[in-house]
Amino acid sequence: MKKTERAELVLKQLKKLYPNPPIPLDHTNSFTLLVAVLLSAQCTDERVNQVTPALFKLGSTPQKMAKVPVEKILEIIRPCGLSPRKSKAISELSKILVDQHESQVPQSFEALEALPGVGHKTASVVMAQAFGVPAFPVDTHIHRLAQRWGLTNGKNVKQTEADLKKLFPPSTWNKLHLQIIFYGREFCSARGCDGTKCHICRSCYPNRKKPKRTNKA
Ligand code: SF4
Repeated sequence: MKKTERAELVLKQLKKLYPNPPIPLDHTNSFTLLVAVLLSAQCTDERVNQVTPALFKLGSTPQKMAKVPVEKILEIIRPCGLSPRKSKAISELSKILVDQHESQVPQSFEALEALPGVGHKTASVVMAQAFGVPAFPVDTHIHRLAQRWGLTNGKNVKQTEADLKKLFPPSTWNKLHLQIIFYGREFCSARGCDGTKCHICRSCYPNRKKPKRTNKA
């Protein structure tokens, strides 16, 4: 099967399984989404959703969050890990949004990635999920699945993003990145599969005998 045929099969199967994948991080506006995505680095979405109600009660907008003492933010977000760095980033970016962006989350990759604690993946999630701009945030899970499905050689996440963007039309990206995440959670975790169990791998690689080794992000 050619790479484009594998991509078509993946798209079809994921559409069938997850026709309308929900956004996993609870939020009420673009600012709370930005903060939730920042908190989700090296933390589960479930845990982020447990801490954000208390955090957003104090600061659901950049103006309000900018006034919350950084120690208070740290205390609330501690269960998410990397809390000293994340609390500082949340406090600083809130002040920057107030001072330089009229208290709005900017709608550009460049401006988002200039904010403290915001990398390309976080910016891509916000652009896709808050503003509906086609983006393909690639995390370790998407990086792994794309390799297992033979859609990239897995050199690094940047290359995986470029390869996926070439294979799938932009109109599919925002939903597709969520669909792949849900598939990874349900069927295709980091360990415990030899690459021959599901319909996707069985169809793409009917002769696969050995486990598919993947490069880490
Ligand atoms: S067969 Fe294994 S590696 Fe392939 S999609 Fe299914 S769970 Fe993932």
